Amino acid sequence: MTHVFHRHLRSVPPVAVSAKGMLIRDEPGKEYLDASGGAAVSSLGHGHPDVLAAMHAQIDKIAYAHSAFFTTDAAEELADTLIAGAPEGMSHVYLVSGGSEAMEAALKMARQYFVEIGQPQRSHFIARRQSYHGNTLGALAVGGNAWRRAPFAPLLVPATHVAPCYPYREKHAGESDAQYGLRLAAELEAAILAQGADRVIAFVAETVGGATAGVLVPVPGYFRAVREVCDRYGVLLILDEVMCGMGRTGTLYASEQEGIVPDIVAIAKGLGGGYQPVGAVLAQRKIVDAMSRGSGFFQHGHTYLGHPVACAAALAVQRVIQRDGLLDKVKSGGEAFGSLLRETFGAHPHAGDIRGRGFFWGIELVKDRDSKTPFDPKLQLHARIKKTAMANGLLCYPFGGTVDGRSGDHVLLAPPYIATAQDLGLIAGRLRASLDEVLAALPAGQAA
Ligand code: PLP
Repeated sequence: MTHVFHRHLRSVPPVAVSAKGMLIRDEPGKEYLDASGGAAVSSLGHGHPDVLAAMHAQIDKIAYAHSAFFTTDAAEELADTLIAGAPEGMSHVYLVSGGSEAMEAALKMARQYFVEIGQPQRSHFIARRQSYHGNTLGALAVGGNAWRRAPFAPLLVPATHVAPCYPYREKHAGESDAQYGLRLAAELEAAILAQGADRVIAFVAETVGGATAGVLVPVPGYFRAVREVCDRYGVLLILDEVMCGMGRTGTLYASEQEGIVPDIVAIAKGLGGGYQPVGAVLAQRKIVDAMSRGSGFFQHGHTYLGHPVACAAALAVQRVIQRDGLLDKVKSGGEAFGSLLRETFGAHPHAGDIRGRGFFWGIELVKDRDSKTPFDPKLQLHARIKKTAMANGLLCYPFGGTVDGRSGDHVLLAPPYIATAQDLGLIAGRLRASLDEVLAALPAGQAA
C-alpha cells in the first residue's frame, strides 16, 4: 500500500536506498548501473563528496532566504560562474527549480521583452514537432510531442510546429546535409511569414533533441540557417538545453558546437546533477536592459527562485566539471562510446539508427531496417526494454513515440561524465543482452 501518487498507478517502483558513483542500490540490495543518470540528470554520478560537502556547508550557513528579500553568495557565485562560461552576450541568469520552470520563464521573458520594446502584437511561438520542453502548460504548448499534448490540448495556447532536424527519417534521398538544413530553415521562414513576421515572439528548439525522439543531433549548418531566419524577422531564438546542456554533449552549451548564440537558453538537469532541483535561464543583455529601462522587473517569480542549497549544489557540480576537465573527457569518451555502440549494435537487425554526441546517445529500434518500419506500438517495446534492463541491473531511458509521438521506440543513454571505459563496456553489453532477451520473448512474427 502506498500513498505516493506514483507515475504509474498499477505498480510501485523499487525503493532506492543508497547510491554511489555509477550505482544505485535498492532495498533488497540489488545494484543498478546508471547508464542514463535518471533522465540525463546525474552528470557527476551519485554521492560526489565535493557536492555533498558544499551542500552541508550551505545548510549550516543558511538553508533558505526568499529572493524578494535577499540574494545569497551561493546565487551570486553560481550566476557569475555560469555567465563566465556562457554564450557571448549573455549577461544575467534567472535561477529556478527545474527544466519546465526554466522553459516557462524563458517563454514569459521573451514575451515581456517585446512588450517592453513596444511590440506587444508579438504573441506567437514557433517550435518543432517531436520536441519536449516540459510538462507545465506553457512548456507543453510549445512542445511538439503528440502523445504528451493530446489530453491537455484544449488548455494549450496555440503554437506552430515545424519539422525537427531528424535526418534518419526526414532527410530526402540524395539531399545533402546542407540542403536538408536549408530546407528546414525555409520551412521555419514560411511558418513565420504565415503568422505574420511581426507577430512571432520566438523560435523554440532543443539544440540536440532529447527524450521524445531519442537524441536528434542537428546537421551542420542547420542552426546557422535558423539563426539567420530569426534575425531577418526580429524573432528571438530560445534554445532548450535542459537535457543537452551543461557538458552533456562535450561542451558546456550544445550551441557552441553549432557556432551560434541564442537570445535565451534554458538549462537544468546536469546543472545540479540531481543533487538539488535547479534550473536556470540565461538571457542576452538586450533583453535584461529592455526590462531594466522599462518596467524595471521581470513579471514572474516562484517561492524557491535562487534557492541557496540548490545554488550551492549546482556551483559545486560546475566547479568539479571544470576542475576535473570533464568536458574533454566527455568529448573524447563520447567518441569512444559512439564507436562502442556501433560495434555492439551496428549490425543488429533491429537497430535502425545509432546517433549522438558526447555522453548523449540514442538507439532507434525498428522492426525492419530496410523499410525503417517501427515496431507495433501496442507491444510497448520500450517499456519491455526498460523492465528487462532493470532486471539485468541496468538503468537506461527507453521511450516510445519516436517517429511521431505514437509509433517508434528508442533507448536513450546518458551516462554520468565519471563513467570509465569499463562502465561504458558494461552498459553496451547489458543493453545488448536485454534487447535480445526482449526481442526473443516477443509474440511470433513481431520481431521478424
Ligand atoms: N526540456 C527538455 C529538453 C527536457 O528534456 C525536459 C525534461 O526531460 C524538460 C525541458 C523539463 O524539465 P523538468 O522535467 O525538470 O521540468
